[in-house]
Amino acid sequence: MIESRLSIEIKIHCPFKSSMTSRPASPPPEKMKFQLNLRQRGISDQAVLRAMEDVPREAFVPAVERYFAYRDTALGIECGQTISQPFVVAYMTEQLQVRSHHRVLEIGTGSGYQAAVLSKLCREVLSLERFRKLADSARQRLANLGFDNVEVILGDGFDIPDTLGAFDRIIVTAAMEDIPQPLLDRLVPGGVAMAPVGPHNSTQVLVRIKRVNDTFERSELVAVRFVPALPGLAREL
Ligand code: SAH
Repeated sequence: MIESRLSIEIKIHCPFKSSMTSRPASPPPEKMKFQLNLRQRGISDQAVLRAMEDVPREAFVPAVERYFAYRDTALGIECGQTISQPFVVAYMTEQLQVRSHHRVLEIGTGSGYQAAVLSKLCREVLSLERFRKLADSARQRLANLGFDNVEVILGDGFDIPDTLGAFDRIIVTAAMEDIPQPLLDRLVPGGVAMAPVGPHNSTQVLVRIKRVNDTFERSELVAVRFVPALPGLAREL
C-alpha cells in the first residue's frame, strides 16, 4: 500500500522535477549584445552590470518601442519625456557608487527604469516626478515587477519636502542649469550627487558632487543630453 502510494508520488513529481532542474535558457541575443555593449563602453562594476541584466527594459518602454528596448538609445515615453540611453543609466549608476545600505533620491522618475536599476543596489530609492501620469504609471509598473524598495512620489525636485529627510546619494535625470544648493544640502556628509548641468536645449555635462563635511567637491565627467528639469508640478497631467 505504502509502496504504491510512493510510486504514484514519483510519477507525479518526475516531470516537474525535470523541468525545475533543467538549465535556464540562455538570454536572447539582443540582451547579450546589450550587456556586451555596456562592457565594451567601459562599464566594469559587476554589480551594476548584473543590475542592468536583471531589469527588463522592455517593461519600461511603450509597446510601440518594445522592439528597440535593448538598443543603446534613449526612447520616447509619455508626456514628451524620454527613458535614458542604457549606457548613460549604467554609467551614472556606476559613478554614483551606490552601496547596499544607501538611501537614494532620484529626481525625474520618467518610466521608472533608472530607479529600478538603482533599487537592485541599495536599501531604498525615493523617486520624484512632476507629471502625475508618469508617476502613477511608473509606481504601478515597479510594483507589478516587484521592485518594492522604490517609492515614487509626485513632486518637484526643486522643492523637496523636508519630511523626506537626507540621502546618501542623489541622482538627477533631467538637465539643470545649475544644481541648487538646497538640493546638495540634502546629502549626508560623504554623500554624492550627480546631475546633467547645462543649457536646456543643447548638450550638458554630467557633474558629480561629493559632500565632505560642509564643503562640496565638484568634478565634471562626460557630455550628455537630457530633457530639461522644470520647476513645479506639470499642469497638464
Ligand atoms: N529616469 C527616467 C528618465 C528621466 S526623463 C527613466 O529612467 O525613465 C526626465 C524626467 O524628469 C521626466 O519624466 C520629467 O518630467 C522629470 N522632471 C523634470 N523636471 C522635474 C522636476 N523639477 N521634478 C521632478 N521631475 C522632473
